[in-house]
Parts: sequence; C-alpha cells; structure tokens
Amino acid sequence: MHIDSAVKGVVFNVQRCSLHDGPGVRTTVFLKGCPLRCKWCQNPEGLSRIPSVTYDARKCISCGSCGGAHTADGAGRCPTEALSVAGREYTPDELVNELLEDQAFFTGEGGVTFSGGECLLQSDFVLECAKRLSICGIRVAIDTCGAVDFSNIEKLIPYAQLFLYDIKCIDPDLHKRFTGVSNHRILENFQRLYESGAPIWVRVPLIGTFNANEEEANRIRDYLNRFPNIRRTEALRYHELGIHKYELLGEPYTLGEEARLSDKQYACLKGIIESSADLQCDGR
Ligand code: SF4
Repeated sequence: MHIDSAVKGVVFNVQRCSLHDGPGVRTTVFLKGCPLRCKWCQNPEGLSRIPSVTYDARKCISCGSCGGAHTADGAGRCPTEALSVAGREYTPDELVNELLEDQAFFTGEGGVTFSGGECLLQSDFVLECAKRLSICGIRVAIDTCGAVDFSNIEKLIPYAQLFLYDIKCIDPDLHKRFTGVSNHRILENFQRLYESGAPIWVRVPLIGTFNANEEEANRIRDYLNRFPNIRRTEALRYHELGIHKYELLGEPYTLGEEARLSDKQYACLKGIIESSADLQCDGR
C-alpha cells in the first residue's frame, strides 16, 4: 500500500461519540467544501472549501482587539471567541493520530465516518486517512452526496466498509431548484457504486415543500427498489439545529416553517420510503 504524507485536508469539525453517522459508536470528521447548496443545509460553515470566519455578537465585548475586522487574523486576536474560524488544515498523520485517541470506543461496527460538506471533494486526503485507519483495523464509512467525479468515489471502495449515500429526490428539475445542481451524476454514480458491490446505506432527507410528499416519496421508493442489495434505507426528518450558524456567518437561511414535518407526515413518508410496497398517507 503506497502511503502519501504530502496531501493535506481542511476539516471543520471532529465529532466524537456520534450515533447517527453509520453503525455503532463513531467519530465523524467533517471536511470543508460542497458542490451542492441544499436550502436546508445545517452545516453551512462546511460549504466553502476554505476556512470560514464566524462572528457571534452575543460573545463580543467590544474590546477592539480585532480592529473591527471579521477575518481569520482578527479571530486570532479575539479573547472571547466571538470571532472564530471554521476549518483548519490537517495532514493525514495529524488527523489519524487524533482519531486513534477514540479507538477504544470503536467496538463492533463502530469506527470513523468522513462527512462534510462533501468529503470526497478532498478524496486524496480521505484516501490517505482511510489507508492509515485500515492498517489500524478501524472501520471507515464515507458519507457522500455523490455529486463528484466517480473516480473520487471509486478510490475509496477498497478502504471503506460502508457508504452513506444521500438520495434527495428523483426529479432532476426539483433537485436543481433545491440544491443548485441536477441529480444526473448523483444517480449515475449511485448505480456505479451499487454495481461495484460496495455496502451502501441510503439516506433520504425529508423536507417540506421539497420532497416531503407522497408522489416524490413513491418515486424515491420505486427507484430504490431497483437496487435490492442496499443494506439499509433511512428517511431523515428535517431539523433546524444548525440554523443559528447562518447568522454567525452573516448569511440568510431561506427555508421557512413550511419545511417542517408533522409527526404523522414524517411517519407516513418514512413508511413509504423505507418499505418496498405501495403505501398511502392520510393527511398531515
Ligand atoms: S476581538 Fe472579539 S470580543 Fe473584541 S471586539 Fe473583536 S469580536 Fe468583539
């Protein structure tokens, strides 16, 4: 196995003890940069490939140390972390050494998940980390939106025990309206990854006004029925846990409360997407 130590990656969060990014207890690494602009994104600090500066007015004591500049330099001088930088550069060895501190928690199917942003925009860095983790016997999962060149996905197949693959909707125009890009390459890459025999969990985020309706849910279900060896399909409920980050970045959040789902609506659409049979909802 060739090990390359020159490649570097930009990471904006390392989240320990995650229970929602694959099986078992996992540490999730969030990498910067994403080709999509999903209106419901709850990690907007991960969209840009370069480090992003955030400003929290509630923590600002007006000391003037930053000189009024909301920049990375200003953040370095801020005593209260009112200004901070999301994203720092790692070498594969630096990141893996940090991940190895959690090794005792990775029992059973637990391990490390690479997420983002879109982690495969930095696939060479993820590959180098995955190689090192596999040498240490740590299981790797790749959480991807699939909107990358297939070669970026393919190179991880020998080192990943699981791919978490987002299928957001089937209608390409709808996909483009809500994410900024067509789903053509995403679905093509999904088919190629499936045909490679790689283990896949499909995740479908359910968003009101986007795909949270019976028609689109049935379309997704019909599409997924063509791939009987998918390990698992999971419908994820829209949430707003990251909305405050838009304010910190000084950017607008454009979805309103109509994006939320009632318990009943979520249960029904989840039932459709996670089943292989025709189902119908009976209202909100
Ligand atoms: S350095 Fe931090 S606390 Fe001081 S004025 Fe700037 S943002 Fe506010």
